[in-house]
Amino acid sequence: MSDELISVPSEPPKILVADDDKTMRLLLRRAMEQERYQVVEASNGEECLQEYQRQQPHIVLLDAMMPVMDGFTCCTHLQALPGSDRTPVLMITGLDDKESVDRAFEVGATDYVTKPIHWAVLRQRVRRLIHQFQLYQQLEAANFKLQRLATLDGLTQVANRRRFDEYFQQEWRRMAREQLPLSLILCDIDFFKVYNDTYGHQAGDTCLQQVAIAISRSTKRPADLVARYGGEEFVVVLPNTPSFGAFKVAEDIRLGVKALDIFHSRSHEMRVTLSLGVASTVPIPKSSPGRLIAEADKALYQAKAQGRNRTVVESLPEE
Ligand code: GH3
Ligand code: MG
Ligand code: MG
Repeated sequence: MSDELISVPSEPPKILVADDDKTMRLLLRRAMEQERYQVVEASNGEECLQEYQRQQPHIVLLDAMMPVMDGFTCCTHLQALPGSDRTPVLMITGLDDKESVDRAFEVGATDYVTKPIHWAVLRQRVRRLIHQFQLYQQLEAANFKLQRLATLDGLTQVANRRRFDEYFQQEWRRMAREQLPLSLILCDIDFFKVYNDTYGHQAGDTCLQQVAIAISRSTKRPADLVARYGGEEFVVVLPNTPSFGAFKVAEDIRLGVKALDIFHSRSHEMRVTLSLGVASTVPIPKSSPGRLIAEADKALYQAKAQGRNRTVVESLPEE
């Protein structure tokens, strides 16, 4: 795994100390600051919840017995907060009985220490829990980046073919279940081979990037997906969109690319244009989505044959 995927946090870890006893908070603060951690304080469970959301600490040192809201209740609430499930909570309890220990773990505490505090033990536990949490955060971040890399086209930053295949299948099934129309637009750059031959591969790549941006601009609904289908072909998935709606989107894309005004001396229009094929259907459950792609491809072929820089709609006949 490359270094770029794992970034080392530069800020010192932040510790939220929740204890109603002022002296105890002071002692905990000192011990933790000696370890070069940042410390924030809360004097009861309610304050702890507020500070937690404000400060996003790396660990919570939580006293079990506090007024207003005790540590157990506070810990239960902490677990329910979004994104808090992995932040370690170290319960500090004066109660060494079995029930309190069981209860601490039941409400989601990661670990516990008892009062009077054995400072060397506390330091080691805090260090270990923070380290585990940081590893977890780095793993999450790396996973997020990998997921992006696995689904995005490197050159154009729109979805890649793999993501398209997956998403199209998924939306096909969803539209079949809900009996709603699903549309597909295939977009192919006109005279692109000769564009590359005339202006070079690098100019071709830049052109592809600009076209991808223009296509993305014309698709506005959250469920719409733009993907690079192949070399200079893009595909747009439009769930819950009938053919006239898809035609409008396709025309918007076509005009958007034309408006980029990328000079192309060997195209009829003297600039880069797109031909687009649209196909729509209300999917039949268990039928194959491949047919819709074939229909869009047929429409695209007609758009090319009819002179390029145009949109052709192919309606899928009933099976
Ligand atoms: P038409 O108008 O019929 O679509 O003709 P065309 O030249 O656009 O189509 P053709 O399929 O013959 O050529 C596609 C060209 O796209 C081939 C290649 O030069 C170019 N191409 C494909 N992928 C890339 C890429 O990643 N970068 C660049 N720069 N060019 C690419
Ligand atoms: Mg092509
Ligand atoms: Mg082409």
